[in-house]
Amino acid sequence: MLTKYIKELVDLVGVSSREEEVIRYIFPKFKEYSEDVHVDKLGNIILKIPSKKENVKKLMIFAHMDEIGFIVRKIEPDGFLRIERIGGVSTQILPGFVIDLLGKKGVVKGIIGTPAHHFIKPEDKFSVPQVEKLYIDIGAKSDEEVFQMGIDVGTFGVFESRYLEMPNRIVCGKALDDRAALAVILQFLEESKNISCEWDIYIVAAVMEEFNIRGILPAVHKIKPDAMLGIDITPSCDTPDMYYNDVVLGKGPALCYMNFHGGGTLAGVLPDKQMLEYAEKIFENAAIPYQREISPGIITENAFTLFENEGIPVCNFSIPTRYTHTPVECVSLDDLEMLIQAMKEFIKGLKEDIHFGKDGDYE
Ligand SMILES: [Zn+2]
Repeated sequence: MLTKYIKELVDLVGVSSREEEVIRYIFPKFKEYSEDVHVDKLGNIILKIPSKKENVKKLMIFAHMDEIGFIVRKIEPDGFLRIERIGGVSTQILPGFVIDLLGKKGVVKGIIGTPAHHFIKPEDKFSVPQVEKLYIDIGAKSDEEVFQMGIDVGTFGVFESRYLEMPNRIVCGKALDDRAALAVILQFLEESKNISCEWDIYIVAAVMEEFNIRGILPAVHKIKPDAMLGIDITPSCDTPDMYYNDVVLGKGPALCYMNFHGGGTLAGVLPDKQMLEYAEKIFENAAIPYQREISPGIITENAFTLFENEGIPVCNFSIPTRYTHTPVECVSLDDLEMLIQAMKEFIKGLKEDIHFGKDGDYE
């Protein structure tokens, strides 16, 4: 079922703020596991698995539904489209890819154009095209034809889906960031029908992470969790061009010790010490392999959620991923399965008296 969930999820279209297709997929599945499921005004889906006791602590586990994409910013008189990026789309790889434009009359295929290789000047051969200069070809001959096809300024687009299963239990596709995590959550729920925990467990499928990282905040305000466990991808460094850290595919999920986005945002995650140590113990006691992750350049919701309420202890589990923010993201099914195991153990171990965070008596 895990691969079925992954395949179905990456085929869905859900650029930031337009997550409805994903919501329609996840919502009925969440309903199978709890009466208490609802969608907030931004589109966050909140599932509650109550503890048998009342007034217990609350753990919120989350992953985001949205994906990176594009928005049409200008239509040229000769029928070509100009685009802007939604989220951190890798511009290095764009020319030649196919995108699905979400037109008013349905999906329109567009090709991201590139000069004929034969005619590229030697000095331009190795440069990366700027987004401003890129154009989309939908086969239209005029702006009028573009409008007739249901495309206008403001039309969203995503990478065309191209799900692949590869040797060594590697799967490849667009939007595995963060739908791989949603597949993990669905499989976890399927395998944990009679789960019992001394804490209330909330599972949130969140919106708009790729655009502003904060789409999840209304859910945090509503739930007021005592701790938050984020599940998202992290770049693996196991291809010939990656060397920053030792995270690789297939050696287990990564436990995040630091992520940070310096580009104007100045935000990141330094996880709560007790929660981190609890997580380490969970992996070690259950003999589930895990990897240690430090990833500058990465930012996740927990960079902001930790400031909510009176401060929330946070921790991140990450899925090692090759070729992040491209249509060919790759993850290992072994890592996903180990992550499901780790989530089960994490929840099982949450006893009433466990406390995360620095608050308390220091006398
Ligand atoms: Zn993500």
